Amino acid sequence: MNKFKYTIPENILFTTAPKDVSYAIFFNFNKADEVSGFTTKFGDITPTLTKNNKFFQINCGILADFSSESARKIGGILAKYLDIHKIESINFPDNAFSSFSDLQTESFFEGIFLGKYSFTTHKSNTEMFESIIYIHPQNPISEDQIISVHKLTFVVNLVRELGHEPANIINPVTLAKIAEEIAIENHILFKKIDYLELEKMGAGGITSVGKGSATKPSMLILEYSGSPDSDTKPIALVGKAITFDTGGYSLKSVDSIKGMKYDKMGGITVLGIILASALLGIKQNLIGVVCSAENMISQDAFRPDDIITTLSGKTVEILTTDAEGRLVLADGLTFVQNEYAPRIILDFATLTGGIVTALGKIRAGLFSNNEDLATTLFEFGEKTGEKLWRMPLDEEYFEFIRGDDADLKNSGGREGHPIMGGIFLKQFVQNNTPWVHLDIAGTAESTKAENYQPKGANGFGVRLTIDWLKSLK
Ligand SMILES: [Zn+2]
Repeated sequence: MNKFKYTIPENILFTTAPKDVSYAIFFNFNKADEVSGFTTKFGDITPTLTKNNKFFQINCGILADFSSESARKIGGILAKYLDIHKIESINFPDNAFSSFSDLQTESFFEGIFLGKYSFTTHKSNTEMFESIIYIHPQNPISEDQIISVHKLTFVVNLVRELGHEPANIINPVTLAKIAEEIAIENHILFKKIDYLELEKMGAGGITSVGKGSATKPSMLILEYSGSPDSDTKPIALVGKAITFDTGGYSLKSVDSIKGMKYDKMGGITVLGIILASALLGIKQNLIGVVCSAENMISQDAFRPDDIITTLSGKTVEILTTDAEGRLVLADGLTFVQNEYAPRIILDFATLTGGIVTALGKIRAGLFSNNEDLATTLFEFGEKTGEKLWRMPLDEEYFEFIRGDDADLKNSGGREGHPIMGGIFLKQFVQNNTPWVHLDIAGTAESTKAENYQPKGANGFGVRLTIDWLKSLK
């Protein structure tokens, strides 16, 4: 089976459950004044067996506090419960979702499909278990809605899967093959700009970063035409995919090098957004650019003090080879603007450790040159639970990255570290095109499995962006 190919789930049936075979699901809400006397807490699942019925009661907390994120969490908790207890089938009776809004019902199923995921690819003896889910047709969610939700979560789970794979399996060469396979399978136009072409083109940012690796860098271009007759300019999505970041000669420490396989999450997220758009038929023209490289040490690797020339013509003095993400993105941004003149640009990158210090793993850093776009994306973050926080980009910050011997330097020191990344990238945005940079270094990966999130790569940014794309005219 090709794991990049979407298939409609066979275990979800829009019919009344055959009698006595499955557990009916009931969602319980407490009134605020009842909470003290209640013995279960949010997310607790209580199985109940009577002579004629078997059902699960799920504690959903206080109705007034219930949000789509709560619904998603409940879905995730239920999915894990079904898996652990090998529950063969459950059913949602006709009034199951009477206390849920439409969005909450969708979010609940998102939680079910996302919560089931865990990374087991390389484990022997893992058996796949799938509960049958009966949905009474009188519930206000349609089969089409469920399939849309399922498609989106299929992509999020694929992003998790690819993100979780280590660097001996996913490197710039294998990532290009995967992206091509995904594109062919889903009628997306694919182009690979390989190392030699990048060199010829003068893309010194990405070639400098990736040339020390045995698997040479490339830029992967994915064109999705969701509105082929429209003459409006496309939306560009640019992602950093450093398949492993050793830091280069500015080598990372024993502690901070662990987990650097996740430095590709920005690029994988872009791949995911393009795939989800194709599966869901999003009515926009999109260009995905995945800047793919491995940051290694070798006789060919770039060094601190090197002065490189990016595709834009701007020169950069290398203060540290560990601030490499902004160099590959600089070329990705220039390329997509020169070739496609997009009307909006979003970039996704696990760019700085500084953003994790600032915002933890709860919110991603949002940097933008455009108030409307920043506000809109912030709001979609609140809605989808993929939360953002606006960071500043005052011109004063530029002084820290002004080069001594070149136009720019790639590090501005420790102060305002994530902002230095943002202000650096801003130098490569042409004509004030509306642009957002999302620093997902903290949010792209979870430290532990919780609710609907797995441990490791979690697919942050796909749902948020798809929701936003759906809202555009
Ligand atoms: Zn780095």
